[in-house]
Amino acid sequence: MSVSPFAYDAAPMRVRFGVGVVDSLPEEIARLGLRRVLVLCSPEQEETGQAVARALGDRSAGVLARARMHVPVEVAREAARHAADLGADGCVAVGGGSAVGLGKAIALEHGLPVVAVPTTYAGSEMTPVWGLTEDGRKRTGKDRRVLPVAVLYDPAFTVGLPVGMSITSGFNAIAHAVEALYAPDRSPVVSLMAEEGARAMVDALPRVAADGADLDARGTALYASWLCGACLGATTMSLHHKLCHALGGTLDLPHAPTHTVVLPHALAYNQAAAPDAVAALSRAWTTPNPARGLWDLAGSLGAPRSLRDLGMAEADVERIAAEVVGNPYANPAPVTPTGVTRLLRAAWAGEPPPDR
Ligand code: NAD
Repeated sequence: MSVSPFAYDAAPMRVRFGVGVVDSLPEEIARLGLRRVLVLCSPEQEETGQAVARALGDRSAGVLARARMHVPVEVAREAARHAADLGADGCVAVGGGSAVGLGKAIALEHGLPVVAVPTTYAGSEMTPVWGLTEDGRKRTGKDRRVLPVAVLYDPAFTVGLPVGMSITSGFNAIAHAVEALYAPDRSPVVSLMAEEGARAMVDALPRVAADGADLDARGTALYASWLCGACLGATTMSLHHKLCHALGGTLDLPHAPTHTVVLPHALAYNQAAAPDAVAALSRAWTTPNPARGLWDLAGSLGAPRSLRDLGMAEADVERIAAEVVGNPYANPAPVTPTGVTRLLRAAWAGEPPPDR
């Protein structure tokens, strides 16, 4: 065995995991020296936000149920003002990437620490990446201040996530692990987390699909999403994430379903150029062709497999290919116009990924 040179920054945060762990929020908030925290969530999860505020008792400054996908800048500004008016000294973001994203936007403006209670598998709570959307354009950046200081993973808080969304959110998480395995800045620790995250998520998803209230399956999926999110926070993503950003940003395709459709194709594109990643995923999923295994899994779980079904017009294939090739991310296989167009055509039509 030989180990290549690497750099690895451990994220300075505390993670707690377990059913009922949200009950320890007051203790965790006190441990951080915070006294009055604003609870953030989406309008659809206001009841969950209120439950968290109740668990916080007199350390809650209230609930702001305004989080929305891609963090519109007006919402972020209003939330930051609201937090300042209430004299909040921190935020608790309860929900998926949208709620965590709102917490990050407030942290960016006022430096208030964020505690996250994730209820999807998107993984934003593990990254220092923020995003803000203004006039239809999303800006993103990296800032250590937006990385949550503590994350409480409570499987009981994920039971309400509808099964269909759970599956696509799980694929979103797997995408982080897959691309971490062939990232230019991968490291042995991150690769271990990626292989285990990919393994655990594929173990969990059929069980979640069979019974969305199965707390054991939910726990495995949430554990996997922690690992996959940590991979996202620690490495540079490649072609798959670039494709999804272009499809989401330019065509407004839905975040997690787009990841689900594109991932088997992006992985197939890279398999020949990333033998170590293929070996890790083959071990994790006991299949010689991980890309095909993912595509089959999506089919067996009733998840989307075609961009056409997500509302993309065939005419947009060339446009998105040009956008991706014009400003590519680092990638193990060369990013060529012919290769990316072929990939997008197959993903658009719902064809299986080619054997490579
Ligand atoms: P989301 O947060 O928008 O949630 C989708 C919907 O599901 C919302 O209506 C939400 O209220 C609801 N929901 C979430 N959990 C639920 C639960 N347990 N029960 C019932 N309903 C629930 O979706 P997402 O996929 O988690 O996040 C997507 C957003 O996060 C995008 O804007 C994406 O760009 C961003 N993101 C950012 C990063 C990062 O590192 N900055 C990483 C991943 C995703």
